[in-house]
Amino acid sequence: MSEKKKTEQPMDLRNKNLRIVGLIIVAIIFGLILLRAWNGRAQPEEVISFVDFMNRVEAVPRTILSLSVAADNRGTVKLLDGRRLTVQLPPDASLYVPQVLARGIDIQFEPHRADWVGIIFGPLLWILLLAGVWIYIMRRAQRGVSGPLSFGASKARLTGPETTGITFKDVAGIDEVAEEVQEIVQYLRNPRKFVQLGAEIPKGILLVGAPGTGKTYLAKAIAGEANVPFFSISGSDFVEMFVGVGAARVRDMFVKAKANVPCIIFIDEIDAVGRKRGTGLGGGHDEREQTLNQLLAEMDGFQPNKGIVILAATNRPDVLDPALLRPGRFDRKITVPRPDLTGREAILRLKVANKPLAADVNLAVMARRTPGFVGADLENLANEAALLAARHGKKEIEMIDFEESIDRVLAGIKRKGIVLTGEERERIAYHESGHAVVGRILPKADPVHRVSIIPRGDGTLGFTLQIPLEERYLVSKDELLDKLTSLFGGRAAEEVVYNDFSTGAYDDLKKATELAKRLVVEYGMSEKLGPISLSRNHADVFLGEEIIKGADHSEALSSLVDSEIRSILHQCYDRAKKLLQENRGLLDKLTKALLVHEVLSGNELEEIFSSALLAPAG
Ligand code: ADP
Ligand code: ZN
Repeated sequence: MSEKKKTEQPMDLRNKNLRIVGLIIVAIIFGLILLRAWNGRAQPEEVISFVDFMNRVEAVPRTILSLSVAADNRGTVKLLDGRRLTVQLPPDASLYVPQVLARGIDIQFEPHRADWVGIIFGPLLWILLLAGVWIYIMRRAQRGVSGPLSFGASKARLTGPETTGITFKDVAGIDEVAEEVQEIVQYLRNPRKFVQLGAEIPKGILLVGAPGTGKTYLAKAIAGEANVPFFSISGSDFVEMFVGVGAARVRDMFVKAKANVPCIIFIDEIDAVGRKRGTGLGGGHDEREQTLNQLLAEMDGFQPNKGIVILAATNRPDVLDPALLRPGRFDRKITVPRPDLTGREAILRLKVANKPLAADVNLAVMARRTPGFVGADLENLANEAALLAARHGKKEIEMIDFEESIDRVLAGIKRKGIVLTGEERERIAYHESGHAVVGRILPKADPVHRVSIIPRGDGTLGFTLQIPLEERYLVSKDELLDKLTSLFGGRAAEEVVYNDFSTGAYDDLKKATELAKRLVVEYGMSEKLGPISLSRNHADVFLGEEIIKGADHSEALSSLVDSEIRSILHQCYDRAKKLLQENRGLLDKLTKALLVHEVLSGNELEEIFSSALLAPAG
């Protein structure tokens, strides 16, 4: 396929500016060349020999007015009649100076004069010349002109519908996600139908998930299902060292895509270009900003329902520029999770489909042994097992090959730093169970919806999902205290079970401390301080201490606030610990279930809770 496409676009302001700068530079270069030529031009008309010179010195009557000797012994002779002559004098000045002086001729020795023009402007000329060439190249790139000097032409590969060839059948373990994107497939298959009904289809969808969870694969499957062309480009491709290149690439990609609607544009690693603007450290920051601006402009520039769907992938949604997430851009987010137990088994089944397996291979067991593995890891695992079997000259892959491969794959993943040892998993399971148990027992804590010990890309090792406080309007003091207590559930469980803590509770402590501060400083719920709100500004509630230490409040008040916060935190922590000690049986039971299933949702949790709470074991 040819990349050569002349896309004549109206020259924008930037190009105009560049043209002017280019002209100025060319003018300066010419000016300097002329200046230099003129400087070297001041040559006297006549050159005479030294002998001739000496004769003229001796001549009577005198014809020479003065002699001036340059550093290189070149003499300039001024005659009485105004003419000038040049003579190359010998290095030994004693050969002519006495005679010259004897005739009363004025003589001067010129100091060594540097060729300042040459020294300063010589290198400058070269620099300017190079700058000129560079600007020329850049302008070509900006206009998207192709050729050997083309940096701007989009690297986005155009893959026809035949070549993606991936369908939802090839994607396993992320069924919920596949369902979510069904609508997009329907739309791409028949955009007109959607337009007629006035249905809005999002322009941009953000796929969020750890590397290897199958985001690219899913995007390709959408293209395959809908039978539309698939353009893909990686955010890191955009980031080149020349300013303006990334922007040109974006433009180029959209030109190609528009000529191929309906189609899918897939931008991998969008965080490489889409980072929050104005936070760039060091170089490349301008470049990224321009690329991002171009992307935003292109997205705004086409109507929804024009048959282009842009999918972007990232594992760092938190660093994205908010402008990218606004309505009309990437306003829909789909999380692609790490596969759970059944998901892993399904993916493994897919990846061994074309491999001969021995009868002893049990994929369910393999799935159980690979918590935290993503699709790419499982594919890798199946491949390693096949290699191992081949190395041992087997005709079929046996269970032992799989088991041995786990360690190899694990070593690779560990280097990336996410998979946990059995001990760590158990600790995390206890921690999360602690949150869940406390949250369930306390009547006014937020209800527990889901507990998981599947590590996530953002570094969270497990989580317990409770409806966040912020979504309610009025919260009572009891509710706040119960919430605080359940925040401590994790750390308290670790103390109850292991008699020590891990760093895993860091985030909980931070949240608990903030909440306690709010309780005292903002809501006036502390007993000793009474109904007083010490915060001036609602937006500042997380600056509790700073506010209190502000001008308005005394030292004594500050320390009272501190001690109130501390005492609330202590009370809640002790309460969490006591609850867990009393319900150790439930804690163990939940932990065990979590270690097996990894994720427990509302109903499953309720089953465990009610059976244990109805018949409290001794
Ligand atoms: P990401 O884009 O999220 O980093 P990829 O889509 O590149 O991950 O996945 C890498 C490979 O892993 C894919 O080519 C695919 O073979 C395999 N893979 C990942 N997830 C799945 C899945 N859910 N089902 C089947 N294969 C998967
Ligand atoms: Zn926790």
